[in-house]
This record gives sequence, C-alpha cells and structure tokens, in this order.
Amino acid sequence: MLSIVCPICGDPRSRVFFVKAERTLLECHGCRHIFWDVFPRPDELAAYYAKVYTSQKSQQALQEQNRAYYRTHLQELLVLCGRKAPAEVTLMDYGCSVPVLLEEAAQLGFRRAIGVDYAEGETAVEMIPPEGVGGLPDQSVDVVRFSHTLEHIPDPLNTLRTLLPKMRRGALLYVTQPSFPVFATAAAGFDLKDSVYPEHLHFFSPISLVKLAREAGFKVTRLFTHQREKAIFDETRSLLDLDYARAELLNLRDKGDPNFPELANYPYYCGENSVLHAVRPGSWFF
Ligand SMILES: [Zn+2]
Repeated sequence: MLSIVCPICGDPRSRVFFVKAERTLLECHGCRHIFWDVFPRPDELAAYYAKVYTSQKSQQALQEQNRAYYRTHLQELLVLCGRKAPAEVTLMDYGCSVPVLLEEAAQLGFRRAIGVDYAEGETAVEMIPPEGVGGLPDQSVDVVRFSHTLEHIPDPLNTLRTLLPKMRRGALLYVTQPSFPVFATAAAGFDLKDSVYPEHLHFFSPISLVKLAREAGFKVTRLFTHQREKAIFDETRSLLDLDYARAELLNLRDKGDPNFPELANYPYYCGENSVLHAVRPGSWFF
C-alpha cells in the first residue's frame, strides 16, 4: 500500500496497479480510480497539446462525420434538461475541440452555445478557454456536456466545482467517457486501454465517476456503461470486485438504462464507456 492521495476521492490508500516503461498506474483503495503516480506539469501539458492541435484537420473530418448524430443528441439533451424549446437553453460543450456540435446547436436555435477549449483561429461559435469559465454569470447554463474530456483534465474535481455555480438549479451535467470496471485491490493489474500519458490522466471506475460528481455537488440521476460489455466481463471476470461495486453503488441500482444489457448496468458496469447524468440540486421551476 502506498500513501498517494487519490485525486478524486482523497483516500490516502493506493497501490501499484501496473508498471509501465516510464510511469506507474496506481489504484485507489476507496473508489478504485486508476491514475498515474506523477501528474504532468502545466507547461508539459500545454506543450503536448500544442503538438496535438497541429492535427486539427483530422479532428475536423471526424467531427463532420458526426453531424447527423449530433442533431439527435441535441434533442436528447433538450429532453433530459427538462426544457421545451432550444431557445430556452444555454449549452456548454466542455472540451469541444472543433465545435461541430455547437454549430448544430446554433442552427437548432439554442439560446447560447459555448465551447470550452483552446480555440485555433476563428470559429463560428462562441469559444472560451477553461480559465474563462469562472467569468460566466452565475446560474446561466442549462446543460454542460463532457464527452471524452474529464479523463484529460489534471484536476477534474476542481473543474466541476468551478462549473456548479454557473449552472442553473436543476441544470444537467452530461458525461460520457472511457470506463473501467470496479477491480479488486488484491487483483493483479494489467495495462489499460489507451493509457497514453499525458493524454489520458484518469481511468474512471463507476465508483470514482459517481464520487467525482457528488464531491463537486451534483446529484447523479443515471449511470450505465455500453460497448463490449460481454467481452470486458469475460476478460476481467477474475479481477472484478462485484461485492464492493454492489455496496458502493447500491443507491444507483435503479438508475441504469434497461435498454442496455445487464452487464452494462449495476453492479457490473463492464461497458467500455460510461454515461452519467447528474443535476445541480434544486429546481428551476419554483
Ligand atoms: Zn479514490
């Protein structure tokens, strides 16, 4: 057992999960979050992403392919946030990269569509850097979306805590990202999918993802996983700590998605990606 504090739940107990060539993956005893033994310095991270951003062109092509899906997805977000018309909704896409989703939101008539990222050149939609979020008016945002973003951020808890007061009461936090099942702390480790430093800094378990949202002040209303759940279950079966998952996530047992198989939901959560919905507590109706 090591004494490195978990960046999500603050548990001081962690253990070596897997040793890579230059770095080591650690696992938190409390929330089964997996993270690197050393986090990148801000300048190291900035230099890394400056290089990545030179491949913006492929990102543009990737995002363009998603236009049709984005239109459906925006309708889903509208329903989930409880608003009737796009004109009532301010949407934030955190870590949006090339903001194709937000272009579609503007087309559909959303009141305001804000991208949070380091923008390159002119964009058709409003973009702010992560440091700019604190400057937004309080209680002004209805939906915040993180799609494959939180795992890149060194301190996601601080990011969500900064966001919470900017969101209206009852506003929706929508998160989708890579997910790893709840592993036993005594089990042998193995290399994780896409454990590329310093791009992926956090490897969330369903427990650590829920703790993150709750620690930041959100109420979780849905949690499930999807993709390859049967294969992941077969591959990791002997490493799973289902009793712990059952106990820790008991109050989310009815908050899954019955459209997905049992192995994607409580207590297995074996899908490769997770989907979490949460709200800022309090209602905007009254
Ligand atoms: Zn933890």
